Amino acid sequence: MIKVKRFEFNTTRANCYVVSDETKECVIIDPCAEETYEREKFIQYIHDEGLKPVRCLLTHGHYDHLLSCDQVRDEFGLLPEVHHRDKLWMDRIEMRIEEVFGEGGFKYDIVKPEHFLQDYEVITFGSHYLITLHTPGHSPGSVVFYCEKEYIAFTGDTLFRQSIGRSNLLFGHDEALMSSLEYITSKLPNDCIIYPGHDLESTIGFEKENNPYLKKHLVVLTGAGISAESGLSTFRGKDGMWNNKEWEYLASHEALYNDTQRSLDFYNYRRKRLSEVEPNHAHGVLAELEKEYRVSIITQNVDDLHERAGSTNVLHLHGEMRKVTGSKNPNDPKCITEKPLEEPIFVGEKAADGSQLRPFIVTFGENVPNITQAERIIDTADIFVIIGTSLTVYPANMLINPYLKIPRYIIDPSDIDRSNFSEFDPIFHVISEFDHIKTTAVEGIDILKEKLKAL
Ligand SMILES: [Zn+2]
Repeated sequence: MIKVKRFEFNTTRANCYVVSDETKECVIIDPCAEETYEREKFIQYIHDEGLKPVRCLLTHGHYDHLLSCDQVRDEFGLLPEVHHRDKLWMDRIEMRIEEVFGEGGFKYDIVKPEHFLQDYEVITFGSHYLITLHTPGHSPGSVVFYCEKEYIAFTGDTLFRQSIGRSNLLFGHDEALMSSLEYITSKLPNDCIIYPGHDLESTIGFEKENNPYLKKHLVVLTGAGISAESGLSTFRGKDGMWNNKEWEYLASHEALYNDTQRSLDFYNYRRKRLSEVEPNHAHGVLAELEKEYRVSIITQNVDDLHERAGSTNVLHLHGEMRKVTGSKNPNDPKCITEKPLEEPIFVGEKAADGSQLRPFIVTFGENVPNITQAERIIDTADIFVIIGTSLTVYPANMLINPYLKIPRYIIDPSDIDRSNFSEFDPIFHVISEFDHIKTTAVEGIDILKEKLKAL
């Protein structure tokens, strides 16, 4: 019977495990004690239990998982072992530690491996063995140590309880991480206990059900059409607000700064109007889909109907009507606050930086600060859906990644016009690949739901 002792060490709260069995032999995984009291506690445990460490294993080569390898070497004569593809990290480990602790700030020896682990290398201790499963992505040589006899896996920084490791560090790789996660969750049984590199243990089955990163990523771009059915007028189209030249002017950067009273009246009207409407069935279904998918909503809408329906991950391209900010630095987080929709914004009312309070809205003539973030979200989509906005005008036309081979849907009652695009533009062909659900958002959302089920 395996006994797993977990320690949480150093400022990153990394886990160090001592894995022993009835023979009293043990392996040490990720020795990462930093402070003296942490180091003492660790050694004390091994002595108190009468254990004999036989291997010192690293789940990967990041500095926060190997800070007390010197202690393991000095006390037990063991050198750390890491997968050979994390030699890349081992070659830079002094540099990395100096970066974090400052020059001379780390007072122990940095001990490097002499033996590197291979894929499927078997590590025996006592009457048990662990298999080394190569799971790159968080780092090139990240591994999972798996005990198939007792369904226990040490997943390092690849899979956490309800989260996953980062792939945006040096040598990280997003797609590799995703396929490693797929490998782990399909290879290991549901009742396998996972012991991650940070945070508490879990099981594969629990993670399959509850880890948002193991679900398919459904990215939904929504526009005015979805809010129209809640009673908010669309800004384009034949009944659109924007046909009214006066309103178009009042929503501009120019009016906000030179004709502030009238522009604020206009926004106060729209804020009040928003407080009177409710999310509709389409908003509701998108929120519900979070049970089965990791849903990212990117919206052109400034209303908060997605949030009110229960969606938890909404990126607003054009700002948020329920928020206010300062006129001087509208994107300064210190100035952005919520203000109840029924409360008007007055001329003379100040933001935190002392400038005139204004709605947190991207007006005509201002940049769209979140567009790059939106592109990044779309690049990781498994399924892409557009609701209530034209596919062929900004911003949707900017946000289609033509190189992804994924299912794409659009719910919109109007025809799709490809005439803006040359046939040499990669997007020209992608547009034809969209499954067009040619109806309103409220009616189309149930059709979409059925189609997603059939995927
Ligand atoms: Zn790491």
